[in-house]
Amino acid sequence: MRVAVIGGGIAGVSAAHELAQSGIEFVLYEASGRLGGIVETVCRDGFVIECGPDSWVTEKPWARELAVELGLEDEIVASNDHWRKTYIVRGGELVAMPDGMRMMVPTQWEPVLSSPLFSKEAQQAYLREPERAEELKTAVPESDESVASFVRRHFGDEVTDTIGAPLLAGVFGGDVDELSVRAVMPAFVKMEREHGSLIAALEKSSRGAQSASIFTTLKSGLQTLIDRMVATLPASSIRLRKSVQKIEFKGGKWCIFGPFAEEFDAVVVATPADVTRGLLSPMDPAFDQLLAMDASSAIVVALAFAPEIAKSLRIPPGFGFLAPQSRSAAERSSVPSLLACTFVDQKFSHRVPEGGVLLRAFFGGASAPLLLDSPDDEVTGLALRQLSSLLGQLPEPSFTVVRRWPRSLPQYAVGHLERMARLEERVRALPGLELIGNAYYGVGLPDLVRQGREAARRVISPLPPG
Ligand SMILES: Cc1cc2nc3c(=O)[nH]c(=O)nc-3n(C[C@H](O)[C@H](O)[C@H](O)COP(=O)(O)OP(=O)(O)OC[C@H]3O[C@@H](n4cnc5c(N)ncnc54)[C@H](O)[C@@H]3O)c2cc1C
Repeated sequence: MRVAVIGGGIAGVSAAHELAQSGIEFVLYEASGRLGGIVETVCRDGFVIECGPDSWVTEKPWARELAVELGLEDEIVASNDHWRKTYIVRGGELVAMPDGMRMMVPTQWEPVLSSPLFSKEAQQAYLREPERAEELKTAVPESDESVASFVRRHFGDEVTDTIGAPLLAGVFGGDVDELSVRAVMPAFVKMEREHGSLIAALEKSSRGAQSASIFTTLKSGLQTLIDRMVATLPASSIRLRKSVQKIEFKGGKWCIFGPFAEEFDAVVVATPADVTRGLLSPMDPAFDQLLAMDASSAIVVALAFAPEIAKSLRIPPGFGFLAPQSRSAAERSSVPSLLACTFVDQKFSHRVPEGGVLLRAFFGGASAPLLLDSPDDEVTGLALRQLSSLLGQLPEPSFTVVRRWPRSLPQYAVGHLERMARLEERVRALPGLELIGNAYYGVGLPDLVRQGREAARRVISPLPPG
């Protein structure tokens, strides 16, 4: 058996690694000159800078399991959760999120009721939510809905806008009015179905208890996870700078074309949704519609301050801040404003030299495309000005790193899971085809590792038809 894996992001590399472990012959095609896709770490002057993801959610086991299998146990570190505090930008100031929040749901009353983040009306909405359990249980809609309408039903407009929208934008770069609640917050949907009230559900379950640490990463950076997997692949199976342009399925074989042509028994397509759509639509027009997804762009600006410069900085304690975006569509698409910033040295202290400060700012959402073509110094200048207005005047950083990730985060729109079910039907009609990547069942690293490995296993041992 010969398998083609197209796309060398974490999903594709995980699939290739699984195939290699099983001794299956494969070719991994990657359009760029490096493997990892959005996962990229830059190490400089004692700073470990993540250009894309910086950690994975501890709750999901698959990335950690892989790291352990790859002998990286000593590299695994947890976020400094004694520093865990997230700020929300409100009226040009950083206001701390109350302690004990699970997303937008409180697990303790006192911090919420004393928080300046919420008006008396919003606090009342929180207090009333457990009393409305029965009403909320009967109000569960038959079909999918947006995150905004779900959160509004429980806690009202203010909570939706003040913390719901920025929290979701921070992960999905998306708009709460568009995102599917069933796809992006399935645990909360289940709680609503079972208990009506989300606050009561968290009180009853141990899920309300804060875990020791929410995020996990690797000391030397997440690129290490990719590099370790790549080290297990036969060098002859890796084709860098080989962009696949066309796929055909003929006589039970898969033909892959670029400026080359090769034949395989199965193909794992691990490219971003737009590319996958272009590759598959000529074979079945249904893919054109099923893979037409909005995707948001992200621009990461890392600002490194060496210890001697960092002395003058006064960064508040915590993991960083989220900035709610303007509600005006015109403003959102005309003024690029920061979506979030991570105080990296406080979240993962081993990522800076002693006494250094590393800020990782993000532009995203509707305004990000405006910056995709701007030169690095303009993007950095804008980030520095906006950060200075929130954190006090910042000195010139020792160095900066800018990365642009155009259309990198697909939006799971309302009805996403139904659309995925229809997509799967079309995929199953083409024996040997597997689709993996962040457009389908989760954008986080653990989900992509799981998808990559499961797809490889299905290719090796296909399910019997029917
Ligand atoms: C700024 C940012 C921060 C994030 N932070 C986190 C985080 O902290 N934690 C977390 O869990 N997740 C995070 N995510 C999400 C996560 O990083 C991504 O969802 C994930 O890395 C995507 O992996 P992938 O393999 O699906 O796709 P990609 O990484 O996009 O890989 C796809 C690959 O396909 C290649 N390709 C494209 N076209 C072709 C072609 N025609 N032929 C061959 N190859 C092709 C591309 O060059 C690329 O290498 C973040 C995402 C972004 C953008």
